Amino acid sequence: MKHKQLIVMALALLANSAVFSGNAQQAMQVKQNLGNHFGGNQSCPIISSNITPSTSEIELLQFMREEEKLARDVYAVMNQKWSQPLFNNIAQSEQTHMDQVKCFLDAYQLTDPVQADNGKFTHPELQTLYDNLVKRGQSSISEALRVGAMIEEVDIRDLQDAIAKSSVAEVNIMYGNLRAGSENHLRAFVSNLLSLGESYSAQVLTETTVTNILNSDRTSTGRGVNIHSQTTVNNSARFTLKADTGVAMGNNQSAYTQQTRLMLSTAIQTDPQHIGQRGQLVNVALYQPVGSRAMQSYQLNDQGQWQNWSGDLQTLNGKPVNMQANHTLNLFDGNFQNAPGYYQIISGYLLDDGRLIFGSQALTFGVF
Ligand code: MN
Ligand code: MN
Repeated sequence: MKHKQLIVMALALLANSAVFSGNAQQAMQVKQNLGNHFGGNQSCPIISSNITPSTSEIELLQFMREEEKLARDVYAVMNQKWSQPLFNNIAQSEQTHMDQVKCFLDAYQLTDPVQADNGKFTHPELQTLYDNLVKRGQSSISEALRVGAMIEEVDIRDLQDAIAKSSVAEVNIMYGNLRAGSENHLRAFVSNLLSLGESYSAQVLTETTVTNILNSDRTSTGRGVNIHSQTTVNNSARFTLKADTGVAMGNNQSAYTQQTRLMLSTAIQTDPQHIGQRGQLVNVALYQPVGSRAMQSYQLNDQGQWQNWSGDLQTLNGKPVNMQANHTLNLFDGNFQNAPGYYQIISGYLLDDGRLIFGSQALTFGVF
């Protein structure tokens, strides 16, 4: 089911030209520095006032606000029970996540579902989850760490889902930031578990997804479709997209400032059956400016320049190549001055017979 959703999502991104509208002026509307928001500082970003969130976007914000509280409150109990500094540290991080969601509830003048009391939740599903997890975490320190890892898996799943359902750029930047935090927390819980001589199996996400997060492996499997017949093309291609800042520890972040120099690249492992065939390396960027719901789409042309693209797969093109076993390509080197927003980069190759193979995971990041 998950597998199918990903294909549908990725194809929708590539194929749905209806969502590709908007103009660069919108990006200029909100040029304020949102810097503090993502630096761990408590102050709120400047949130554009021309957005009215939909009912489902409101529900997601309210739900995520309480889900971050669930993490915080469970870790507070686990800290008391097991006096492990890890729980205390991560609980504090969850407080900043709660604060980040609250910024948006306030800006959009929405009701905050959070109750002051620890361990009390407005959403019944979260109340049940809290009660179960707190009980489960009492039995041993290992079980407490597994509870922590499970909360992070749930959080990653729900944030991923929220990003797919929300079409507000600044909200998606915030969700992406929270998801990156959850991935850090998952790694921390699991590494503590392993240091106790325990093993860890995925509890909510797929084993592959968890393994990739634990290894920070950004390589994704290939999805394939024939753009003429729309039929699925099975393949074993692999795609690795990278965002390099040239600064140690600065790579592959969830958000960057407009001044950050970013070197984006892709590494393609061609399906062995496609080696020697004629094709093109195709790279697509989707950009949603801060303050906008509209998505703009671009493709990287054979001159290495990003140009507007309608989103029509029939007009997709890129750098002509004879397919080798491996290809690496630089996609971008520079900064995103005056273009704050949410970015998604998809990398792939298009064989001359119309078979399109592309990475199932986009490189996503926010620029603020
Ligand atoms: Mn969190
Ligand atoms: Mn967390």
